[in-house]
Amino acid sequence: MKIIKPKSGEIFDIELEESLLKKNRELAEENKKIFNQYDIKAIDILGSIGSGKTTLMCQIVKKLKKDYRIGVITGDLTTTIDADLIKKNGAQVIQINTGKECHLDAKLVSEAIKNLPLKEIDLLFIENVGNLICPGEFPLGAHYRIVVFSCTEGPYVVIKHPYIFKEANMVVINKIDLAKNMKVSLTKLKRDIKKIKPFIPIIETVARKGKGVEKIINFLKNA
Ligand code: MG
Ligand code: ZN
Repeated sequence: MKIIKPKSGEIFDIELEESLLKKNRELAEENKKIFNQYDIKAIDILGSIGSGKTTLMCQIVKKLKKDYRIGVITGDLTTTIDADLIKKNGAQVIQINTGKECHLDAKLVSEAIKNLPLKEIDLLFIENVGNLICPGEFPLGAHYRIVVFSCTEGPYVVIKHPYIFKEANMVVINKIDLAKNMKVSLTKLKRDIKKIKPFIPIIETVARKGKGVEKIINFLKNA
């Protein structure tokens, strides 16, 4: 089959994009310095809309809040639905509304952290806008990256988004109770992930029921 692939220089604004990404990387490093200065462990949560990022966040906050002071930055185009939900579970939450932007960037996060009581936070989660593509290109300064996807996203979600998995430190496969209905093989999905990143920890969850969340927490405690 004929496949059209852009050659270098054929994508518009490629120079603009390069300088933008470079600037973002610099700002991400600044953010990381701030996190380190306040002894905060920062974790990115990436995944599509409906993958279960917020449900997972709520469960994690519920279980971790007795041992850690938790901050959460949630990215969304327009609403505060996620932020409200997470806040109810006992975290300091800042909402970033990106408007039309389909990802968070280091600049937005640097603004958000100015509004958080950093001295009173041990763990900071950054829930990105629901999207498995460009957030991968915009580091935010976090120390770890967790990619979440669910069985309802079908059998090809991993092989169609290799870049985001390459940059991840942990993968969560959510809604495993629906795998059979979706005719999705967990073994195959895990094999796809390991092909991209051989030693990455993979955790299976049913976030809605809290199943598997303990394993994520153990990872975070030892990270
Ligand atoms: Mg969400
Ligand atoms: Zn984007």
